[in-house]
Amino acid sequence: MRKLWGKTLLAASLAVSLTACSSTVSQSGNGGSSKVTPSSPSAPAAGTEAHAVHWSYGGETGPEHWGELGTENRACSSGLEQSPINLEQAKIKADATAAQAIEINYRPSQFTITNNGDTIRADAVTQDNTITLDGKEYTLAQFHFHVPSEHQIDGKNLDMELHFVHKDAGGKLAVVGVLMKAGDANEALAELWSKLPAEKTEESIALDQTIDLPALLPQTQDVFRYDGSLTTPPCSEGVEWTVMQEPIEVSQEQIDAFASIFPDNHRPVQPWNDREVFRVNE
Ligand SMILES: [Zn+2]
Repeated sequence: MRKLWGKTLLAASLAVSLTACSSTVSQSGNGGSSKVTPSSPSAPAAGTEAHAVHWSYGGETGPEHWGELGTENRACSSGLEQSPINLEQAKIKADATAAQAIEINYRPSQFTITNNGDTIRADAVTQDNTITLDGKEYTLAQFHFHVPSEHQIDGKNLDMELHFVHKDAGGKLAVVGVLMKAGDANEALAELWSKLPAEKTEESIALDQTIDLPALLPQTQDVFRYDGSLTTPPCSEGVEWTVMQEPIEVSQEQIDAFASIFPDNHRPVQPWNDREVFRVNE
């Protein structure tokens, strides 16, 4: 376990990659996704680099081709620790070491939202939401959504998945995945959902109210943990993954509203290879 989580990997380049790909991806091909081509060549507010990779969630630029779309995406096809994965419960080991538990310190907080062409992303305005993994603190940078879920439980996708993306002081990433299933409407998402930008945004949209982050977490904090990657190009590895075992609920109307903008923005599951996945109960 110590060996598994003790790696020091490409943290700095990861941070750069994440910024580049979450802000400046454009779509020029016939990839069959719902991405919108930017109407002007002006740089997006948060973008710092030109990034010429044209990828999508279907067709010739879809997930099975991401690794061919540029040398910076090589990990998408040749990486051995890719995300997402099928969380096959019979293969998952219990980890009884209390030190491996996750500590989540979230509070109602302010966010701005953007449609970056791949998802709806909420960027943290403040730096006071953190998680602690193995005694190391990571700060929440943003969260975003996928339809259907990217991780599978015993071979099945759920309706949606929420990714909370955190960074430590060195730029290493830790993502907390929360699976979402159809049920009661999620009040914590009400204002965000009322302002979902249908098209790619040039500027972020401010929300009037804070988002109640603790209300976006399941009641029990039992988790699965493994070493993985970004689930979008450049698929950089060295990402600490924590997937909550219990899903949260979101109404079918909320799912449909998101899916009307992004009908399918999930990457298929990737091989485990030599990795181990651990179950950590609170
Ligand atoms: Zn994601």
